[in-house]
Amino acid sequence: MSTRTLLILPGDGIGPEVMAEVRKIIDWFAAKRGIAFDVSEDLVGGAAYDRYGTPLHDDTMAKAQAVDAVLLGAVGGPKYDGLDFSVKPERGLLRLRKEMDLYANLRPAQCFDALADFSSLKHEVVAGLDIMIVRELTSGVYFGEPRGIIREGNERVGINTQRYTESEIARVARSAFELARRRSNKVCSMEKANVMESGVLWREVVQEVHDAEYPDVELSHMYADAGAMQLTRWPKQFDVIVTDNLFGDLLSDLAAMLTGSLGMLPSASLGAPMANGRPKALYEPVHGSAPDIAGQGKANPIACILSFAMALRYSFDLGEDAERVERAVETVLAQGVRTADLMGPEGGTPVSTADMGDAVVAALNASL
Ligand code: NAD
Repeated sequence: MSTRTLLILPGDGIGPEVMAEVRKIIDWFAAKRGIAFDVSEDLVGGAAYDRYGTPLHDDTMAKAQAVDAVLLGAVGGPKYDGLDFSVKPERGLLRLRKEMDLYANLRPAQCFDALADFSSLKHEVVAGLDIMIVRELTSGVYFGEPRGIIREGNERVGINTQRYTESEIARVARSAFELARRRSNKVCSMEKANVMESGVLWREVVQEVHDAEYPDVELSHMYADAGAMQLTRWPKQFDVIVTDNLFGDLLSDLAAMLTGSLGMLPSASLGAPMANGRPKALYEPVHGSAPDIAGQGKANPIACILSFAMALRYSFDLGEDAERVERAVETVLAQGVRTADLMGPEGGTPVSTADMGDAVVAALNASL
């Protein structure tokens, strides 16, 4: 009986198509590396709504709480646009993130050499780039109270509140320091301590956690606006960046786009350690359900495959096998294998979603 449990939620649109390719990688690990996963599969998003009238069934939520890692494809689509807010496909994903209390969102920005020319930045600025943005995901201005639109005199006022407790800052700081220790051992914390009290507290708490628990990690602080400039000027100066929910939302998208296509970007959302020491974890590609290409075999499965690689590294402590998958992707790209989203101006013939998955499996075979 495997001790590695994985819940797969393919979701909607291209979700099931890209997840089918991840299945090939999972099968490869069982067959060729003797690393087996106890995999179960369920519905989320529009697919769950169609079956159960809710975007996430309670039984699915319970399963997600019980497994080591959840791997999700994508949710949503035009078919569900008219639904009430409470049952929209996205609510299924939000419920997972909220009830699993996934407070650390990991967004790597990694530039494969073969795709460096896809970036809007110069080749030398992005080639070989490998940074990680850790965004606080469950607090801050997106959740703070009071919030709303109120009337003051004869005009309306929109209100949101930036609010962070010490413990909320400390736990995401720990996630960043732990990650840095597995990478190049450097953390840059970003806030706006020059104009926001929550930023002053953020800076103080990150420094305190560092001094008490992670003195071996190199820590620096930067104002988030300066951080945005530095990310576009010379992103390779960073290793791990830790920041709040709002700044993280912006900076992680900025950093991701340094590297090219949406079809290449994985993510992880981690929570507190469970009884077995593994963190609560949800892995998913950054992209959505891409209804414009769904069902046509055009989707790039690499973002989802790299999300599985993150699960190998962060949930199952299989860092070398995660690297094996990442190197296989790199090999395939270097061979010029491209789905339609990766076609450059020089043109060529794009491969299908299934062909790309097969190419990664072939590269894995060659790695043995
Ligand atoms: P999207 O990410 O689905 O697509 C944006 C563009 O990128 C499209 O042209 C699409 O074809 C392309 N694209 C995305 N992933 C690709 C891949 N793997 N390979 C090749 N091309 C890819 O964003 P959108 O169009 O704004 O949203 C579509 C639906 O997805 C909406 O219902 C939205 O709410 C939902 N959505 C879900 C998530 C999620 O599940 N986490 C995230 C974003 C959007």
